[in-house]
Amino acid sequence: MSLAVKAVGVRKSFGQHEVLKGLDVEVNYGEVLCILGPSGSGKSTFLRCINHLEVPDGGYVWVDGSIMGYDLKAGMLQELPIRRLRAQQSQLGMVFQHFNLFGHRTVLGNVIEGPMIVKGVRRAKAEARAMELLDQVGMAGRAASYPSQLSGGQKQRVAIARALAMEPRVMLFDEPTSALDPELVGEVLEVMRGLAATGTTMIVVTHEIGFAREVADRVLVMIDGEIRETGAPAQVLSNPHDPRVRSFLGRVLP
Ligand code: ADP
Ligand code: MG
Repeated sequence: MSLAVKAVGVRKSFGQHEVLKGLDVEVNYGEVLCILGPSGSGKSTFLRCINHLEVPDGGYVWVDGSIMGYDLKAGMLQELPIRRLRAQQSQLGMVFQHFNLFGHRTVLGNVIEGPMIVKGVRRAKAEARAMELLDQVGMAGRAASYPSQLSGGQKQRVAIARALAMEPRVMLFDEPTSALDPELVGEVLEVMRGLAATGTTMIVVTHEIGFAREVADRVLVMIDGEIRETGAPAQVLSNPHDPRVRSFLGRVLP
């Protein structure tokens, strides 16, 4: 059986700055991988390489057994045409620090947009599924509200429902609680905990060490574009081998 995500030798530079120095990462179906690391270490760039929003300079990423961005034809890799790339990218649900909801659409409108426009799902069906997902994130009662009427935590829960509406194989989270007031962090982590418990494959970039310790199957610490340590949360967080990881965790652990 194929892996949900497999990254091999992923490299990325911006000008002279090598931001990702050859990353190898494997994620199984149903697994939750939390990525930790100091700001600027390349975590967001790596997530963007996974869904091919950034094209790696070296290495490849497979999602659900298909190589991202390319087609294998007669032993040669050919760049995918944009429509097929978009279809591939829709296998990955992305949740960002800033929610990127459409301000002129209701909550329900935000969640049905992708399925209707990208996947051609009929409105009645898209709405029925959207209401299930909004219920799952505790936002069904706000389906008719506009984003400006919601708190940050509520917006982020809608953003999660919107990503799930595309039925992705893998959910990618890039610091989903970093922009929230502290009292709103818990409700978003609670939704993510629920997703993990129901077998959603998740890659989560986060500074929430407690969440990583409790929910992650595996934790990975990235520093300066390299994986410095990876393993079970208890080992990595409580007893890291790498001195730079120890020093990083010493600064962020409560
Ligand atoms: P993290 O998410 O771990 O904070 P990022 O992946 O956002 O790190 O950034 C890693 C490094 O790459 C940073 O030094 C950042 O300034 C740089 N970087 C990211 N995106 C770009 C870009 N589009 N152009 C130039 N530099 C970039
Ligand atoms: Mg980042």
